[in-house]
Amino acid sequence: MKLNSLIEENFRLVEIQKTALRKLGIRTIEDLLYHFPVRYGDTSSMKNIGSLVGGDNVVIFGKISGLKTSKAYIKKIPMAEAFIEDESGKIKAIWFHQPYLAKMIGENALVKAEGKVSERKGELYMSNPKIETVSRLPIGVGDSLFGEKKEDYTLYPVYEESRGITSNWIFHKIQKAFSLGVLDEITDPIPEEILKKYSLPSLKTSLVWIHSPHRIKDAESARKRLAFEEIFFIQLEKQKERIEYRKNPAPVIDKDEKDLEDFIGRFPFKATNAQRKAIADILADFKKGQAMSRLLEGDVGSGKTAVAAVAVYATSTTRPKGQDFGSLQTAYMAPTEILATQHFESFIKYFSYLNINIGLITGSGCRKFPSKVNPLGWTDISRTQLLKWVANGEIPILIGTHALIQKTVNFKSLALVIIDEQHRFGTAQRQKLAKKSLLAPHLLSMTATPIPRTLALTIYGDLDLTLLDEMPEGRKKIITEIVLPIDRDKTYEKIRAELKDGRQAYVICPRIDEPDPAKEMALLAKSVKEEAKRLKKDIFPEYEISILHSKMKPSEKEKVMNDFKDKKIDILVATSVVEVGVNVPNATIIVLEGAERFGLAQLHQLRGRVIRSNHQAYCYVFADTKTDKTLNRLKALKEAKNGFELAEFDLKFRGTGGLYGQKQWGISDIGMEAIKNIKMVEAARAEVKNMIEKDPLLNRYPILQQKLSHRQSATIHFE
Ligand code: ADP
Ligand code: MG
Repeated sequence: MKLNSLIEENFRLVEIQKTALRKLGIRTIEDLLYHFPVRYGDTSSMKNIGSLVGGDNVVIFGKISGLKTSKAYIKKIPMAEAFIEDESGKIKAIWFHQPYLAKMIGENALVKAEGKVSERKGELYMSNPKIETVSRLPIGVGDSLFGEKKEDYTLYPVYEESRGITSNWIFHKIQKAFSLGVLDEITDPIPEEILKKYSLPSLKTSLVWIHSPHRIKDAESARKRLAFEEIFFIQLEKQKERIEYRKNPAPVIDKDEKDLEDFIGRFPFKATNAQRKAIADILADFKKGQAMSRLLEGDVGSGKTAVAAVAVYATSTTRPKGQDFGSLQTAYMAPTEILATQHFESFIKYFSYLNINIGLITGSGCRKFPSKVNPLGWTDISRTQLLKWVANGEIPILIGTHALIQKTVNFKSLALVIIDEQHRFGTAQRQKLAKKSLLAPHLLSMTATPIPRTLALTIYGDLDLTLLDEMPEGRKKIITEIVLPIDRDKTYEKIRAELKDGRQAYVICPRIDEPDPAKEMALLAKSVKEEAKRLKKDIFPEYEISILHSKMKPSEKEKVMNDFKDKKIDILVATSVVEVGVNVPNATIIVLEGAERFGLAQLHQLRGRVIRSNHQAYCYVFADTKTDKTLNRLKALKEAKNGFELAEFDLKFRGTGGLYGQKQWGISDIGMEAIKNIKMVEAARAEVKNMIEKDPLLNRYPILQQKLSHRQSATIHFE
């Protein structure tokens, strides 16, 4: 048996099993070994059936008898029932909605059942227990429970299953693979001295321990080691990327801050010290002749766009080397059409006095500023025309969505790439942009995504960091209130008073837990529509209410956003997924419905939409529950200084699962466990740094090298 050989070449599989394995993402034997248990059951919670008591959570083993399927009298729910029996007694088990179980189990089958024991009219039963067939009953069931060798037999792994593949199946196939010697093929990529230093088990040992631990402590050290390995590899990739990217010669942009004073002086506001420092960092990078890769991280509303504008100004007032006409070019990529369009409009304001052409490219069309007929406005132009002008350098600033990185977009002298909300773009996309010019462009990423420090160190390991940790002057702190159901009406009256004063409001509908994104979007769209209807009918009949959700066409969305900006709409009911960073300064109220379903960092992000002007802003956090735990968690929104603090809170209270935007980082569940452990992340980072400094090409570590390129080809494939 080979690690990289296909499961179906090694085990006989029926069609339903093949489908199930595909769903679980298991293709090769190696995939199988890396399908880790989600938890461990403990046979010490095994009971013989005669000793069961109502309310217990138990694992029992026994034989099925009296199996039948029927319809429950109320509501005609299909159901199956049976007895599970061992030598000490029997108990009834009922499965609602799962009559197919009966067919799969069969009369007289030996099973393991896991679940809660309930009691009704003095009779014990188990409702929807987890069940699987076993080849034999553990020794001692119905007798002296599990006999003498208890201590090395109590833990068993529980795996994620899919219909057709049970946890038990996975367990046995893994054990089989072990017995056929697959572990002999495994070489440990992490150097031994590092493992020793942090007392981590070897890869082989970890794999054995994670799948069949004798003690829970062993399973834990195995997980720790595997988590360390994952963080180690991510760090290694990032650090290498950092070195690689920096090697690229890049255009020299040599501007003094004084040169820029005129541009900055035209801002309708005074730049903050943090903005000035960020500008200085960027200008220093620009002079080096090596590609910059910098992350500008700042809370929503901290003024990242203005910093970006200065970088663009420096770029578009610099001539390409050896050329006495034209200027260096910028590509400015935003995650959505609304944001791209908004940046286009802000840039027109920043740059109109300079006579610089600005282009906009999105999925729904292209624009150019200035228009020939109206030098103060923009005009729609064809894609072909726009691309021609970008390719010959006549348009120095191109703003757009993903449309920017298509093959057909070519620049004459691309020198700066700005990526707004960078967490939404993968490395591969960045690389694509970098390849659009002979010299590597400078890269400025911007994000407001509040994430914990451990995660930032991990996923942004390839970037230099500048923090915008200061809000523009005169901003009033948003008044945040946690509103219980009984205070709703009072709160609506407060909102009415603000609306009367001419302000506008967002109402954000709650998250909906639905694994299928398409279904979730449909449900959300529905809830948005219903909430808007309700508000119009029962609460705010005198105001104009509109909706915004992701199932709408881009042109519809844009119309709504423009109407909202133009104050034709007073209340905008929207989903949380719609847009980040939308800028409507007159909107000073935000209502967050179903707040308990969001992470704090995300609530903070949403709240940030109303911190765009000097009017007092209000955030009403509507919670449906009254539990102290939830309310205390939400109260952190009133107290925390910034989004990063809230992200740490989320990590502490909700674990890594509650982190904002988790899916986009490409870190496995086990890797995410490391994120809770700052020491581990720092250790991995330090070891990698040390290693790369001494041996940038990893010549002394052939296994590392090999595994790294294996991982890379896997991710490129993935993206
Ligand atoms: P973000 O960092 O979320 O991208 P923006 O760049 O959109 O924030 O800025 C938010 C708002 O603050 C904009 O209306 C912008 O014009 C304004 N702004 C930016 N910098 C300052 C400043 N130093 N003083 C006052 N207002 C500012
Ligand atoms: Mg922004």
